[in-house]
Amino acid sequence: LVSRKTRKEDTVILLPGDVVVGGGASLMVAGPCSVESEKQTRAVAAALQKAGVRVMRGGAFKPRTSPYDFQGLGMDGLRILREAADEYGLLTISEIVDPAHIEPSLDYVDIIQIGARNMQNFELLKAAGEVNKPVLLKRGLAATMEEFLHAAEYIMSRGNTQVMLIERGIRTYEKWTRNTLDISAVPILKQESHLPVLVDVTHSTGRKDILVPCAKAALAAGADGIMVEVHPDPATALSDAAQQLNFDEFNTFFDEVKASGLYR
Ligand code: PEP
Ligand code: MN
Repeated sequence: LVSRKTRKEDTVILLPGDVVVGGGASLMVAGPCSVESEKQTRAVAAALQKAGVRVMRGGAFKPRTSPYDFQGLGMDGLRILREAADEYGLLTISEIVDPAHIEPSLDYVDIIQIGARNMQNFELLKAAGEVNKPVLLKRGLAATMEEFLHAAEYIMSRGNTQVMLIERGIRTYEKWTRNTLDISAVPILKQESHLPVLVDVTHSTGRKDILVPCAKAALAAGADGIMVEVHPDPATALSDAAQQLNFDEFNTFFDEVKASGLYR
């Protein structure tokens, strides 16, 4: 079902408010790593609306490496995200980690995110496949293209055709970036599959100084969208403090990406 062989045309996903993913239009998804408070989330929503962003991300269920790190606000986080987004006319995307939370999340998210660590959580994939809600599937930390596409197939085989793929970097021996951004994944996925393909420049690189060239490279390679993390005061963030952009940095980033002519 995911294969280009079964469907020649690009899948275009229509979100509320006439926001489209795929089919030639570029999508910017931005927002904090984690929903931390109403104040923080509303501040981000206001800044994104001003910048012309339509889709806000924000993690409520955080899959953290250490159990002692901030785990997210859970369902309260989803509610805070929804309220802030509604106030500023934005759409929401948030990671769901438990199959039992798929149904309850439907009132709060416009796009269900499945995280890298859960790319092969097959029960979660099946649950996401049972609902009528777009799903953004992140590439696993060490997933091959084949495994990634099979994971998408799990969702589609349950009936949900609204699937987007996102390259978020893979684990290699390289230490100067958090992960290795696999740009070649973009044209391969576009060639092998008809699904929209996005690139998460924040988690792939883990460094703010190379986000612009990486976003341009992603778009030049055919990506349908970019994900980037934005926080009112990154230094105090409860997760991913080192890699989130503040509002000025985000505005500069987005302006430069748009000025490249690659963002359509
Ligand atoms: C995220 O986008 O919030 C996240 C945890 O990313 P990943 O699953 O790609 O690590
Ligand atoms: Mn993060």
